[in-house]
Amino acid sequence: MSSVPLLHLENLKKYFRVKESWGRTRYIHAVESAPLDIEGGETLGLVGESGCGKTTLGRTILRLYEPTAGRIFFKGEDITKVDMLPYRRKMQIIFQDPSSSLNPRMTVGEIVGEPLDIHRLAASRSERKERINALLERVGLNSEHANRYPHEFSGGQQQRIGIARALAVEPKFIVCDEPVSALDVSIQSQIVNMLEDMQAELGLTYLFIAHDISVVRHISRRIGVMYLGFLVELAESYELYKNPLHPYTKSLLQAVPIPDPDLTRSRKRTILEGEIPSPMESPPGCRFNTLCPMARKECTEAVPELREVSPGHWAACHLFG
Ligand code: SF4
Repeated sequence: MSSVPLLHLENLKKYFRVKESWGRTRYIHAVESAPLDIEGGETLGLVGESGCGKTTLGRTILRLYEPTAGRIFFKGEDITKVDMLPYRRKMQIIFQDPSSSLNPRMTVGEIVGEPLDIHRLAASRSERKERINALLERVGLNSEHANRYPHEFSGGQQQRIGIARALAVEPKFIVCDEPVSALDVSIQSQIVNMLEDMQAELGLTYLFIAHDISVVRHISRRIGVMYLGFLVELAESYELYKNPLHPYTKSLLQAVPIPDPDLTRSRKRTILEGEIPSPMESPPGCRFNTLCPMARKECTEAVPELREVSPGHWAACHLFG
């Protein structure tokens, strides 16, 4: 196995400039990422509440947003400033809301065929048609759907079309940006199972973003937890459930019902009081200090670094440093 990870992020940061009505310019520090590796063939789950920066991180990795600082390496190559067209074939995204991510004026065949055209992956019209049909069948649709329009499909079917479009270029890495959160619960497991089957068959690597930690638990080998732009904890999926370290992770897990009574008993309750601050008005020091029941003086003075507390288990908290 290669020692070079498929993706390596070196202190990736993304800030958005916001102009206020009275002329003042401020910055939203959306991502203040620590170094992060994603191994080929793994699924890294990324969780956190809305606005924590997980979608921005996914889009910045793909350079849909240009990074403010830091570097992105794909298979050891620095892709932070290169022309991304050749890498678009290798790195794809599945969006959260399938209805708004599909052009309503294009047929399903045109939507799935567009990446084949951009990257010139079909030598003839008949090959293009064959590939579109094969992609539709791969995601549980069929060739008759190719001539229809997105609005004629259910939300689950629209997401299957989005997945077929992502698969068209035979990518290695896919950012799954909350791919099931807009779908009915009954459909969610079908889509997650399909993504798992595709991963086993095609050797795909996923960054699987979700706000619900229970969605990523089973699909992910490791899970990262984000809070206000920072990665605050990273561990193997079971380890994170069994032994969460960061007070924020503990509070997230308390919202999840678990069928294991031993785990339930071993968890102490952490009650959070107050609201998550705006990313524009983040507190100094640890960004969680305004809500953290364990906060102490140094938490308002210094940002805790992400440290390896036990093999493979990382946390950014002064309690572990
Ligand atoms: Fe809480 Fe301090 Fe740890 Fe932040 S660094 S999570 S405020 S104990």
